[in-house]
Amino acid sequence: PRVVGVGADAVERAAESALRPHDLTEFVGQTVVREQLQLVLAAARKRGAPADHVLFSGPPGLGKTTLAMIVAAEMGAPLRQSSGPAIQHAGDLAAVLSSLDEGEVLFIDEVHRMARPAEELLYMAMEDFRVDVIVGKGPGATAIPLELPRFTLVGATTRAGLLPAPLRDRFGFTGFLDFYTPAELVQVLRRSALLLGVQLTVEGAEEIGRRSRGTPRIANRLLRRVRDWAQVRGSGIVDRRAARAALEVYEVDERGLDRLDRAVLEALCRRFGGGPVGLSTLAVVVGEEAETVETVAEPFLVREGLLGRTPRGRVALPETWAHLGLTPPRGSAW
Ligand code: ADP
Repeated sequence: PRVVGVGADAVERAAESALRPHDLTEFVGQTVVREQLQLVLAAARKRGAPADHVLFSGPPGLGKTTLAMIVAAEMGAPLRQSSGPAIQHAGDLAAVLSSLDEGEVLFIDEVHRMARPAEELLYMAMEDFRVDVIVGKGPGATAIPLELPRFTLVGATTRAGLLPAPLRDRFGFTGFLDFYTPAELVQVLRRSALLLGVQLTVEGAEEIGRRSRGTPRIANRLLRRVRDWAQVRGSGIVDRRAARAALEVYEVDERGLDRLDRAVLEALCRRFGGGPVGLSTLAVVVGEEAETVETVAEPFLVREGLLGRTPRGRVALPETWAHLGLTPPRGSAW
């Protein structure tokens, strides 16, 4: 059960926001997206107009929310935050849109999870800065046009492919965020250690960076867990020994795989003989939502060569068996 009140989520969020970069120069890595975004923002500033709508796409924890905040900061505009699951009726969205100020940045996280009627309202708002509010029901219903201030929509999605084309096309620019290299994660960690007042050695940073699934959010979280270990059982310094010992306690393996990652691979190999097995079946066996398996666990596993996606389902690869210390069955597809 979830902790209520000041629960784990709230603590996590507070810790996270303390470490967020405030401008593009502080934002580590993603050089391509950074340059593209810099141009979009500089041009808008030069024109003295709100920036074009921007979409950020990529797995969780890679910096989409941070970039949305940076867009607002660089435009000197206030930021309004919402999310797809919170917008289930067109009316919810109309209320948010009509309360925006000129130039304001509206961030919609998980924009692919908005309800269809709200999505349609959003197309119009993005393109014409106008919405039709339907008043009444049945034959007597009338559409009242409502002018909106010019705003910038920043959308974030873990699955750009799921966005309907008309919505995708209305973003002037899409930034595709990719996993970070271990060297980039070391940079993220050094910056965070400085902000947290944690003593971090080069080897300590490398050890944590290598085991953070290419994800800054995870790197920052592991840094805090290793710091705990160092304070309680070590010398207070986050070095390689502290990192190795703490990550063992937290069940993060040599390649950075966490419990969910390993559960997926174990199920694939032990229950389904290496597949192919459908995503939904696999998700049921590991006790997670299919979307979580697909957007949280799989992108990294696929990139690491530990999982294959085929039209017939998910399959184990030679590295999968090796990583789990198992022998592939004779006559398996691989
Ligand atoms: P997302 O919205 O993609 O899930 P966030 O923007 O919330 O990810 O980032 C998660 C955490 O990782 C934040 O605390 C943020 O400070 C940190 N972070 C993400 N990207 C970077 C980066 N490029 N440089 C430094 N820190 C980053």
